Amino acid sequence: MTVETAQTVTDRLGRPLRDLRLSVIDTCNFRCPYCMPESEYPEHHDFLPASERLSFDDMIRLVQAFESLGVRKLRITGGEPLLRKHLPELIGRLRRETAIEDLALTTNGLLLKRFAQPLKAAGLDRITLSLDSLDPAIFQRMTGGRGSLEQVLEGLDAAVAAGFDAIKINVMVQRGVNDAGVLQMVEHFRHTPHVLRFIEYMDVGTENHWQAAQVVPARELLDRIAARWPLQAVEEHYRGEVAKRYQFEDGAGEIGFITSISAPFCGDCTRARISTDGRLFTCLFAQQGKDLRPWLRQTDAAALRQAIAQLWQQRGDRYSELRERLPERLPGKKIEMYQIGG
Ligand code: SF4
Repeated sequence: MTVETAQTVTDRLGRPLRDLRLSVIDTCNFRCPYCMPESEYPEHHDFLPASERLSFDDMIRLVQAFESLGVRKLRITGGEPLLRKHLPELIGRLRRETAIEDLALTTNGLLLKRFAQPLKAAGLDRITLSLDSLDPAIFQRMTGGRGSLEQVLEGLDAAVAAGFDAIKINVMVQRGVNDAGVLQMVEHFRHTPHVLRFIEYMDVGTENHWQAAQVVPARELLDRIAARWPLQAVEEHYRGEVAKRYQFEDGAGEIGFITSISAPFCGDCTRARISTDGRLFTCLFAQQGKDLRPWLRQTDAAALRQAIAQLWQQRGDRYSELRERLPERLPGKKIEMYQIGG
């Protein structure tokens, strides 16, 4: 598919629109307390009815509009995206009908053993796996008692067997919950092509009862790891890369840190997010999204593109940089992470 010259749009802070995260479903087969606590989202919680989810046609048109505005990287998220029926078909269509250069997916891995091969065959480039602990009991606790560590590790093996090599593994670190297992995870994945990325526990949404005391600053983790295996900082792959990268001096691989709390990176944030029901969010911590379905209902691609461009040009989000100056209790509710993907 040929690419027309993409128009570059920048927001009020001069940040170009480069990355899109698309949530294809809001449900999940886990109940991670920091994202979808069981107490708020019991088994029969009323998630979006299937009829209100964006169709694959909608998604293709949205992605074509975003790519015409400079987006080259697309991440498929959820909830848990592997729960969306016929997902490999969507991946195949994105490959054939859009010019996205980097097509990635974030999953909790529970269904990965079944989908790794079909996703690879459909043209998916990369997988990011969320895996917070290698201790079965802590893993159970951090997935709301829903997940099987063994099944997730089998999914990882299946992804490697399917041809996904350097898999990014996101570890959300919470003090007193899983931080004591960080060195075990590093030891397990050193000398493999996989890249562990330690994420500082964030105040996403309004239901995870976030406390600053439970945040383990990246610096502290870095010192813990470097005391055992010396590390050296390495250049980011591109402007706006989320993780700060480090390599082991002994050549045993790479790790990263996502520092939204201790070292915010809003200045280079080029990410837009689309919720499962078609709202555009310009920040992970946004309260309001803009419903794009009125433009999707028309067939005028230029109008959809114009609407997105204007919304991005009005953007001034930098929540993480302002966090400490914001009132403890914000008026209004932040969007929940499971509705727009991390
Ligand atoms: S807080 Fe918002 S603006 Fe800042 S890096 Fe995160 S998503 Fe981007």
